Amino acid sequence: MPGKDYYEILGVPRDASLEDIKKAYRRLAKQYHPDINKDDPQANEKFKEINEAYEVLSDPQKRAQYDRFGTVGGDFSSFGGQQYTSDFGEFTNFSDIFSDIDSAFNEFVKNFFGKERTQTRERIPRRGSDITVGLTVTLEDVLTGVEREIEVNRRELCDLCRGSGLEPGTQPERCPYCNGTGELRSSRSTPFGQMVNIMTCPTCRGTGRIITHPCHQCNGRGFVSRRRKVTVKVPPGVEDGTRLRLKGEGDAGISGGPPGDLFVFVRVKPHPIFNRLGADLEYEAVIDIFDAVLGTEIEVPTLERVTEKLNIPPGTQFGSTFRLRGKGLPFINDGGRGDLIVKVKIEVPQKLSEKERELLLEIANLRSKKINDKGGKSFFERVKNAFGG
Ligand SMILES: [Zn+2]
Ligand SMILES: [Zn+2]
Repeated sequence: MPGKDYYEILGVPRDASLEDIKKAYRRLAKQYHPDINKDDPQANEKFKEINEAYEVLSDPQKRAQYDRFGTVGGDFSSFGGQQYTSDFGEFTNFSDIFSDIDSAFNEFVKNFFGKERTQTRERIPRRGSDITVGLTVTLEDVLTGVEREIEVNRRELCDLCRGSGLEPGTQPERCPYCNGTGELRSSRSTPFGQMVNIMTCPTCRGTGRIITHPCHQCNGRGFVSRRRKVTVKVPPGVEDGTRLRLKGEGDAGISGGPPGDLFVFVRVKPHPIFNRLGADLEYEAVIDIFDAVLGTEIEVPTLERVTEKLNIPPGTQFGSTFRLRGKGLPFINDGGRGDLIVKVKIEVPQKLSEKERELLLEIANLRSKKINDKGGKSFFERVKNAFGG
């Protein structure tokens, strides 16, 4: 993968906007789509390359990495399951919050036991953090709905100590600093009498106990980081940018608190042939100018990969649209489906044979006569009039 110039592949400048990248991708993907180039293996390769380039350049994180290092790790043949960010990083270590005031006590306990102490954790139950993961699906997936397995790094309760942080078979010991009371009292005499100050013991954080034999699997944290496979059900009709919530699949809770949730941020990849407009799909059909004039029947592809016949009536204009009812995407939480809107683009031939030219001239002469007979003006006369001359 290194050495490939994704910008060159998509034909965009290095400072291209996301919109430009999308446009370039759509144009090229349409041109090299395997459905269109069935007999051209080179087009197939090119199509893969375009997808790879788009996958990187459309993702701000991957693009930044690519710009910096000229490469991006990961497997681009599958678009699903990249982990983006965990809301609060790997671990939220609560002892860090207290580390400043703790250092003096730390020193004391270290001398007392001859080794680093480990605190028992806070007793207040806290909910685990939520995790957000990105998942890219295709428009075909949106049509049918899809089940995907994604991998998530999350914090789970240590199964060895069951979250207590204690090496199995050991007990926490009485905090030597507060003598197990969890409080520190200091009193001083003032002209007004004895003043007593009570504070929570920062060594054991009020629990009165400290762990002298931390669990070897989690180093006394009570938690371990695990990579888990989670199955995500993406419903039919899902919109780009939808956040699916998987309750309780986030980080484990603290001190018996509930786990956080897993949020799956769904991105729908632009389709090389169809443009999505809510539940409707838009398809651009290119027809020959003579077919537009005389009328014809064309075949329109659908997301289901079957073609539908569409009648193009004589005199069809550039940009005319036709609707194939119910051939769009499903509405979310509804049995119905949107339409497939066919937008007609008319192609004017750039090269004519001598015979064709002759025949067309004949038609052109017939038509100009008709216009003149009706008292119409030639194009040049109309232009002249328009400019007041
Ligand atoms: Zn443990
Ligand atoms: Zn204490």
